[in-house]
Amino acid sequence: MAAKQRDEFSESIKRTTAERAGYRCSNPSCRRPTVGPHTVPDKSIKTGEACHICAAAPGGPRYDPTQTPVERSSIANAIWLCTECSTKVDRDPLAFPVDMLLGWKQRHEDLVRGETNGPSLPTIELSTVRGLLVPDGDSDVSGEDCEIFRDHILVFSNRHDIELQNIQARIQLPEPVVGCQLTYRPVGIEVSWGPERIQSVAYATGSGSVTQRGPSRPKRTQILQIERLSPQSNIELAFRTAKDRFHGLSPVFTVGSDPKDVNSFVLGTFTTSCYGVTQVQEFFAPIAYDDANRQLHAMDVYGDHTDWNVQLITEYL
Ligand SMILES: [Zn+2]
Repeated sequence: MAAKQRDEFSESIKRTTAERAGYRCSNPSCRRPTVGPHTVPDKSIKTGEACHICAAAPGGPRYDPTQTPVERSSIANAIWLCTECSTKVDRDPLAFPVDMLLGWKQRHEDLVRGETNGPSLPTIELSTVRGLLVPDGDSDVSGEDCEIFRDHILVFSNRHDIELQNIQARIQLPEPVVGCQLTYRPVGIEVSWGPERIQSVAYATGSGSVTQRGPSRPKRTQILQIERLSPQSNIELAFRTAKDRFHGLSPVFTVGSDPKDVNSFVLGTFTTSCYGVTQVQEFFAPIAYDDANRQLHAMDVYGDHTDWNVQLITEYL
């Protein structure tokens, strides 16, 4: 007597699983399309399948005897994978446990949904340290140092499931930067950070001359470049600013105006490549400045700066 052994998905569940995945493999390190052209012009080819997260029959990968046949053949137990990944996850079920597959499915559906909901913006956190960061070994911190300097921590994170590439940001601060240090970066990722280069031009005629002396002044505007940020990774920078004693440009963050005036901010671009499409996306984060305590706070990150009246500061001697 051959009883029905396998709790298979209905055709409608298979199709819905595929459509919810955008006909892409749900494995985050694969995500290849599972439909495409056949060599015969009036045919297409489908190479994906609705796979059981917990096996359809006893003895199968990740089989769960506590599931009812209805649960086992429900869409909650289905994940869309390409043929290759489907074979891989079933051959080695210990390496691909239920929780992992459920996580893949969830994140993949979020990604497919997110494609129409807007860009995967980075997250920026900026805070001012209470006191000054001290290096290992001997160091002295005086009351005067604490009066003049402020140390800040900037954390730049990718909390999405898609890699952010070629991040370039202009960070305009209310105080000039006198030093900075990359305190954390993922292994092998190039990060550079330095003052914006400002071209000085000198012009003289006849017997006249122009003289410039002294060290270059610290700059308010820093350029940050991050080669790429993998999903769920971040970099952390510490930097020191000094009380600006050179020119009395007051920091502006006027919430009342519309569009809002802002002269402290992070403004940049990054690139994503998803499903073979490369996109350059802007991001913008105004920085709030507590003038009395000289503390910085990063705010929400926006996909553009059109709602803000961004005041670019160009520094001259
Ligand atoms: Zn795959």
